[in-house]
Amino acid sequence: MKALPYYHEYEAFIDSVSKLARQELIPKVTGWEHDGFFPNEVFKLLGDQGYLGLLISEKYGGVGGDYKLAGAWCETFGELASVGLTVGVNMHSLVISHALEKFGTETAKGYWLPKAVKGEALGAYAFTEPGAGSDLARIRTTATKQGSTWKINGSKTFITNGARADFILVLTKTDPNAGYQGFTTFVVDTTSKGFRVSKTLHKLGWHASDTAELSFEDVEVDDSCVLGACGDGWGQAAANLNWERLMLTLTSLAGARMCLQAATKYSGDRSAFGKKICEFPDIIGYLKEMERRILNGTALTHRALNELIKSHDCRLLVAAAKRMVCDDAVWVADKAIQIHGGYGYTTEFLPERWWRDLRLMPIGGGTSEIMTGIIRKELRRVR
Ligand SMILES: Cc1cc2nc3c(=O)[nH]c(=O)nc-3n(C[C@H](O)[C@H](O)[C@H](O)COP(=O)(O)OP(=O)(O)OC[C@H]3O[C@@H](n4cnc5c(N)ncnc54)[C@H](O)[C@@H]3O)c2cc1C
Repeated sequence: MKALPYYHEYEAFIDSVSKLARQELIPKVTGWEHDGFFPNEVFKLLGDQGYLGLLISEKYGGVGGDYKLAGAWCETFGELASVGLTVGVNMHSLVISHALEKFGTETAKGYWLPKAVKGEALGAYAFTEPGAGSDLARIRTTATKQGSTWKINGSKTFITNGARADFILVLTKTDPNAGYQGFTTFVVDTTSKGFRVSKTLHKLGWHASDTAELSFEDVEVDDSCVLGACGDGWGQAAANLNWERLMLTLTSLAGARMCLQAATKYSGDRSAFGKKICEFPDIIGYLKEMERRILNGTALTHRALNELIKSHDCRLLVAAAKRMVCDDAVWVADKAIQIHGGYGYTTEFLPERWWRDLRLMPIGGGTSEIMTGIIRKELRRVR
């Protein structure tokens, strides 16, 4: 893997990500969106250039960067008009591999991380189940210890990269009577006997990304596959979800900016009633409001990111940023369609794809309503 000589020089880093996207990915994403899958070679390409190891230490082949670098990546790579691809990559590299490095055993890290940063082994994170999404405490997947091994049984759904993953971090219940201390996460090799991709899901957007339902029937793992200690799963999930939410928020900001850019250009090119449409007060109002929401969202999101960089408690800021930005990004994409008129409703212009893709953001990683609940709870705590 090529080291990133400029990884702490953000301008150069951002330029290099944009260049890679322009040259290698933008010409192909529309085809992948139609095909309903992006090839694993995308991971290889990014791995060869060092981009899959931004938060991973050099010991495992990463570049040992921080959340500032990861944030710059999210806001730049997120400009690619295929949010399913963007988040599929970011879940693997920034969330799953990062969580494995933070909490995994030396055996698991030594086995998976060097392959993960090269894009040779791909990861997924499995919290959600058919009967438990927002209400994660109700998950029913169990892991029971039998002699020196654990047996995992249950099913998970909506899992990003689920159909292609080589390793999956699986949240299970190890003690139904222990409350929040009864959850444990395991890293599961998908070649294990008893693991099955039971279904791939068809979706409104994120067409290039695979989203799968997974089945675990007596899947055997040993102690080296436990993340942290037995019973640590709930606390790990909360920490990982906080960063995942910020990653999704930064990606939404990038999408909203691309919608504003497209709408600004189109409204300057298109004429009606002898004028450019950008001269009509309604269109001017839409563009100003799009910009206002993006600026507010950027300020709040960067504040949350700065707190995370400083390792400060930022649960309230992240929930507030996710709630506002993810909802606003859908609004911005909707207005971009409106400004494009009939063309906005066709697949010839990108706003319809942005709208479909960004529509997931107020749902995935914790819904807007769940963010409101966190905001209320955190405000009560700090008052
Ligand atoms: C494309 C896609 C990719 C995904 N990727 C992953 C992944 O990689 N890994 C993973 O584990 N999960 C993944 N998810 C799952 C996602 O995180 C969940 O869909 C989300 O957390 C919501 O859970 P749910 O779908 O069960 O909805 P529910 O929890 O059933 O919610 C339904 C509605 O009820 C509302 N609601 C629920 N509780 C409350 C409450 N207390 N107060 C107010 N309103 C409430 C919700 O806000 C929502 O509007 C993905 C989902 C999709 C669609």
